[in-house]
Amino acid sequence: RGTSPVPPAGQPRLTVLSGPSGVGKSTVVAHMRKAHPEVWLSVSATTRKPRPGERDGVHYFFVDDEEFDKLVANGELLEWAEFAGNRYGTPRQAVLDRLAAGEPVLLEIDLQGARQVRTSMPEALLVFLAPPSWEELVRRLTGRGTESPEVIERRLAAAKVELAAESEFDVTLVNTSVEDVARELLALLR
Ligand code: 5GP
Repeated sequence: RGTSPVPPAGQPRLTVLSGPSGVGKSTVVAHMRKAHPEVWLSVSATTRKPRPGERDGVHYFFVDDEEFDKLVANGELLEWAEFAGNRYGTPRQAVLDRLAAGEPVLLEIDLQGARQVRTSMPEALLVFLAPPSWEELVRRLTGRGTESPEVIERRLAAAKVELAAESEFDVTLVNTSVEDVARELLALLR
């Protein structure tokens, strides 16, 4: 609204937080926004069903397959990807409006989406959230041991590939403590 200083030209205003699944991206973002609700986070469209407590238009725009097809066909998504059997995408116009107003924009998306943003908006700052260690990621992904060894094996193999994506990013934040990483992320946005 014109009260915050406009960042100097050339300063990145679109920040993408991405990283391997299970690394804790949404926890970090939720933590940061609790202290700084003024930070604008893009609300994605998804074909996934809402989880308990999730609200349409707040956590996601929940759409069916047909509506998602339409968003893609009309070029309304800045990027989109399929993840674990559902589709997720970033509505383009809201992001462009914020950027045009000189306000920082944060996207929290998967690695495939981050790569698309790299291509379509090369000036974006790509931030990779890394686990503190491979052992910690294994511990998170194997969870409570309710999954079959085959499923766990597949998730670990996928995680190894995902970790290798770090080299494509501008900045790496290591998720040792949610508080520290949330603070670092906020500093990058400003
Ligand atoms: P969840 O179903 O747990 O909310 O999200 C699953 C994955 O989808 C997470 O890695 C999250 O970062 C990613 N995701 C959420 N929204 C988007 C989006 O708009 N685009 C892309 N590419 N990934 C997204």
